[in-house]
Amino acid sequence: MADYKAVVIGGGPAGLAAALAAADKGAGTLIIERENRLGGILKQCIHDGFGVIRFGEKLSGCEYAQRFIDKVKAHPGIEVRLLTFVIDIKKSDIFTITATSSRGIETITAENLIFANGCRERTARQVNIHGTRPAGVMTAGVAQNYVNLQGVLPGKRCVILGSGDIGLIMARRLTLEGARVLGVYEAKSTPSGLTRNIVQCLHDFDIPLHLSKTVKRVFGHGRLEAVEVCSVNDKMEYIDGTEEIIPCDTLIVSVGLIPENELAESLNIPLDPRTRGPFVDQNMMTLEDGVYSVGNCLHVHDLVDYVSETAETAGRAAAGSKAPRELLDIEQEGFLYLVPQKLDLDSLAPETVFYFRTAMPREAATLDVTVDGEVVFSKKYQNLKPPEMERVEVPLSPKKGQTVKFFLSGREVK
Ligand SMILES: Cc1cc2nc3c(=O)[nH]c(=O)nc-3n(C[C@H](O)[C@H](O)[C@H](O)COP(=O)(O)OP(=O)(O)OC[C@H]3O[C@@H](n4cnc5c(N)ncnc54)[C@H](O)[C@@H]3O)c2cc1C
Repeated sequence: MADYKAVVIGGGPAGLAAALAAADKGAGTLIIERENRLGGILKQCIHDGFGVIRFGEKLSGCEYAQRFIDKVKAHPGIEVRLLTFVIDIKKSDIFTITATSSRGIETITAENLIFANGCRERTARQVNIHGTRPAGVMTAGVAQNYVNLQGVLPGKRCVILGSGDIGLIMARRLTLEGARVLGVYEAKSTPSGLTRNIVQCLHDFDIPLHLSKTVKRVFGHGRLEAVEVCSVNDKMEYIDGTEEIIPCDTLIVSVGLIPENELAESLNIPLDPRTRGPFVDQNMMTLEDGVYSVGNCLHVHDLVDYVSETAETAGRAAAGSKAPRELLDIEQEGFLYLVPQKLDLDSLAPETVFYFRTAMPREAATLDVTVDGEVVFSKKYQNLKPPEMERVEVPLSPKKGQTVKFFLSGREVK
């Protein structure tokens, strides 16, 4: 018999919600978290905008997390191990987790595993910036940690590369703390972050957004002295003659998040190249029976409310008894990605929740769902943008051997 019915790896919003849902259903649950506090990335998100969908309130990330932390601490069915890092997992008829902490190396067994270990930031070295290696080049999450948790201003004259949400939020934060943000440079022709963040973080503070431009080179020994920016074409190739030198002491890189899946890969769990997270069914169970994936390690979410929702789905399922699955593939066209990618025909609810992002900006868009070529569900959208994830409930009850296809169409916006 395993030590726990469910072990949750990661104590961010996904892990907290999954653990609560599993324990509410009677599962003996353990959360393993490598940091010294629960809350994940939300510990450093002091801006508001969290929980609008779930609580109908604009909370800070810390406030949102605290609502779950309080419940976890009060729940008799949940144990928490902090400062404990999962380094290995082996599978037999149960899962054996090896973790390291100040207590040394320990092994813990679980009937079900819930991966809730988040994502990591892509770094400057991963986007081909040439030049020296001065201090003052950092990711937006690191800058956020300096400012919000350590009370340290990382620089005075900042350039931000990438228009993802974290970069936009840091543009505003650094400005409020007295730094000068000279501009946000985005290689794509459209911004990567939510429209609300473009307006509230850049427009409201007169911070210029330069589209189709990137940072090509950094200069400086010891400390960053300047960056060279230049225009790029649709293929992300530099356009000669457009180079410009911008003196600055800080380059904040916000060029994408990568779901953290080394542990899942060590169990040979197949990953979807579109999401970089595992393929899952509607219960968020991966292709490995008894292993679930939720939150940002499943796919990068822009809103934490949906992180909590998917995590609860997985938590409830992990508390149930194991049953064989009949999985059906879902075909998709026109999406950046669609989750879940599989349907477990043996546990279908009247409506299945799907999350998706369009592959490109579209106006007058239509989502059609077909079973064996016949449209069973259709929904219209005024406009769709890749940075804004959509949630849709679809009534689906296909049979084994049928073909389910999700198709997104609409006018492409350049
Ligand atoms: C800067 C920023 C601004 C955001 N702004 C908003 C906003 O305004 N509104 C909104 O709704 N959403 C926002 N989001 C999105 C939202 O915060 C995230 O989608 C959400 O926090 C993801 O939760 P998670 O639990 O999946 O991951 P995380 O919060 O990253 O938690 C993962 C946890 O797993 C732990 N872990 C990882 N590996 C291991 C291991 N091997 N062993 C033990 N523990 C491990 C980590 O320490 C971490 O605590 C923002 C995100 C960021 C980064």
